Amino acid sequence: MTRKSIAIPPLTDELACVLIDAETIDRRVAELAQQINHDYANIKEPLILVGVLKGSFIFLADLCRKLTVPHVVDFISVSSYGKTTNTSGNVRLLMDTRENQENHHVLIVEDILDSGYTLDYLDRNFKTRGTKSVKNCVLLDKPDRHVVPVEISYLGFDVPDVWVVGYGLDVGEKYRTLPYIAEYKHEEA
Ligand code: 5GP
Ligand code: MG
Repeated sequence: MTRKSIAIPPLTDELACVLIDAETIDRRVAELAQQINHDYANIKEPLILVGVLKGSFIFLADLCRKLTVPHVVDFISVSSYGKTTNTSGNVRLLMDTRENQENHHVLIVEDILDSGYTLDYLDRNFKTRGTKSVKNCVLLDKPDRHVVPVEISYLGFDVPDVWVVGYGLDVGEKYRTLPYIAEYKHEEA
């Protein structure tokens, strides 16, 4: 069987630059998985991974396939943004999880930490569900944008205060399937 190289989708006019390439993402996801495998090596019940829709779905898919600890995959959907790119701080639960988290360790898998409202809300919410522990695994962090303090358990990369797309992250549903993280040329309204 011959190996075909996969073409890397080029930047469009709307994208300023590639911030993190696919190989770098892949390496970092493997390191995060290794750390998680180590930290949860002795758990009795499967770890519940809760992917925050939609932005985390590609990160979660790659991460969970590198986990050797027993785990189940679940999803939650929240919204604090509506259709704009400005946070409101008003987090709404759009779709809850299906699994019962009682007496389980929960790992929230999030694409990006911006103001911190979403993760703060989820962290407090899961702590009321009789969980054994609640931690988070965040692919990207914008440290300059935090409004509420959130402790990150596992972090992929810091990014600057720009709108980023690719590897699950979108702008108006575009660019989610780019294999890299790129800067979107964002114009403030
Ligand atoms: P927070 O509640 O921390 O302000 O916002 C978290 C959510 O905002 C993320 O889960 C993500 O959906 C969205 N978000 C924040 N910054 C970006 C960004 O640069 N690009 C994209 N695509 N989404 C972002
Ligand atoms: Mg998100």
